[in-house]
Amino acid sequence: MATEPGADADEAAEFDIVIAGSGAAGMTAALTAAHLGATAVVLEKTGSFGGSTARSGGGIWAPGNTVLRRAGVADTPGQASAYLAHVTGGHVPAERRQALLEHCPAMLDLVLAMTPLRFAWVPGYADYYPEAPGGLASGRSIEPVPLDGNVLDGELARLNRPYLPVPDGVAVTQADYRWLTLGPRHPRAVAASAKVAGRLARRRLLGHRMLSLGQALAAGLRAGLLSSGVPVWLNTPLTGLVMTDGRVTGVRAVRDGEPVLIRARRGVLIATGGFERNEEMRLRYQRPPIGTGWTTGATGNTGDGIVAGQELGADTGLMDDAWWGPSIPLPGGPYFCLAERNLPGCIMVNGAGRRFVNESAPYVDAVHAMYEGNTAENPHIPAWLVFDQRYRDRYVFAGLPPRRPLPRRWYAAGAVFRAPDLGELAAQIGIDPRALAQTVARFNDFARKGRDEEFRRGDSAYDRYYGDPRVRPNPNLAPLARAPFYAVKIVPGDLGTKGGLRTDARARVLRADGSVIPGLYAAGNASAAVMGHSYAGAGATIGPAMTFGYIAARDLIPAAEDAVNRD
Ligand SMILES: Cc1cc2nc3c(=O)[nH]c(=O)nc-3n(C[C@H](O)[C@H](O)[C@H](O)COP(=O)(O)OP(=O)(O)OC[C@H]3O[C@@H](n4cnc5c(N)ncnc54)[C@H](O)[C@@H]3O)c2cc1C
Repeated sequence: MATEPGADADEAAEFDIVIAGSGAAGMTAALTAAHLGATAVVLEKTGSFGGSTARSGGGIWAPGNTVLRRAGVADTPGQASAYLAHVTGGHVPAERRQALLEHCPAMLDLVLAMTPLRFAWVPGYADYYPEAPGGLASGRSIEPVPLDGNVLDGELARLNRPYLPVPDGVAVTQADYRWLTLGPRHPRAVAASAKVAGRLARRRLLGHRMLSLGQALAAGLRAGLLSSGVPVWLNTPLTGLVMTDGRVTGVRAVRDGEPVLIRARRGVLIATGGFERNEEMRLRYQRPPIGTGWTTGATGNTGDGIVAGQELGADTGLMDDAWWGPSIPLPGGPYFCLAERNLPGCIMVNGAGRRFVNESAPYVDAVHAMYEGNTAENPHIPAWLVFDQRYRDRYVFAGLPPRRPLPRRWYAAGAVFRAPDLGELAAQIGIDPRALAQTVARFNDFARKGRDEEFRRGDSAYDRYYGDPRVRPNPNLAPLARAPFYAVKIVPGDLGTKGGLRTDARARVLRADGSVIPGLYAAGNASAAVMGHSYAGAGATIGPAMTFGYIAARDLIPAAEDAVNRD
């Protein structure tokens, strides 16, 4: 168990704020508390800190922040507000949406001031609905600049592992990834590879251990906590909440294998992530087929904080939903597809051999389409990503360089099939060969014209972000023509769940009648998402998680001159 100096059991049994969960929400709240001069502790159930945040792409959607302003991204509060109202479609109260937009710039300034983190705009990573009112094709997403892990000293060993293993010290950013997927022959990919290699060589010379994406974000937040003296207690699961005279005054937890009570003078923040790893909750709240096998979320996220809140009468929302994404059930774990669906030369078909969605649609929408249309005649689960050899020769696929044969174990697991012609491919995956042939012929016709008359793939700037700019006029469309052909199984995976405790604009947890549970706050995936059923843009889970962590801490500390929306 990791403890900080001066954090022995007696002294630490009472804090101003007790925070459960060491992801983006929890660590940002703890930093904010420290900034306001309050004492806080972060309890983390597992033996490593960072949760899904450390596994993630580290993108942050936070309109109007300093980094975007400095990068010259033209935006106004009115535009951002109109956009968020549009994409959440009446499912999220205006005050919560406004709280996010009002406080996310100050949250980011605080993180910049209290941690070694620096951020960069991800150029052109469009909002997911850039053509909607207030949407931006230039995007509102930022990501961490690669960070030297040495800032954490020995604590680096306790950083939760990334989702995709990268060789030690190789720091690939989101901005690099966009170009690297286009394969080594694309000039932008050559430039991006040279940048990554140069960064690696330079940093190795200096003895740096470079981290990027969510690894950098979680490490940077943790470094801020170390220098602010905020303890993070690993292997310390919250097991319940303590209420005194109608107010949450502490938590029950297990520490050193012993049950302990940790008192909270001001209140408790639940930041324990979603329930993606809880089979029973997924079956209870979500649509079949569902389980824990297709998520990429952190293993500790079993909904503990949500259940603890429910035990006190808290209401929940959006429990049926998740940060979905079409994923490949590979033998080592699901692979969450990003650029793979957008690049030209592939289509996604259902069990009847028909396309049923714009393949390049935002990932949440693509899975909503999988569940919504899933019938016995038109089974969408699993679906199949079908592509030809030209696609395989050109682009990186699921982390594999172009041309490299797909691993045998993927075939053995039934995740991938290959055949010399479409008819045989269809037979292998149990699809009517005529239906698949017709679908491909129709799609190839669209590709030649450069216009997808069925699902308008490539019309949106979001679709085009991960397209191939060499392919004109539509960077998302190319015929499937060169044998052999491939079919890759697609299931409804996710980055985590988005349903949880219902909160107000101050991150206070609510009962079903709308009353507040005094002293209880929630942020991040433990709370019902401010995005509703949607996903505004890259980083729209972490940006709100950090912002509502920040809002909660500020609301809990009455001495703060700038208390949030105080009554
Ligand atoms: C591969 C991948 C890529 C992603 N990319 C992005 C991206 O680029 N941008 C974006 O916005 N989102 C992204 N996401 C989603 C994002 O990572 C999560 O939505 C976000 O990090 C959730 O933050 P959180 O603080 O709510 O929870 P987490 O970061 O998951 O932290 C929750 C922590 O709580 C701990 N915990 C659970 N139960 C208890 C308990 N009983 N007591 C104490 N601790 C407990 C968990 O162990 C965990 O460490 C990605 C996710 C994945 C998996």
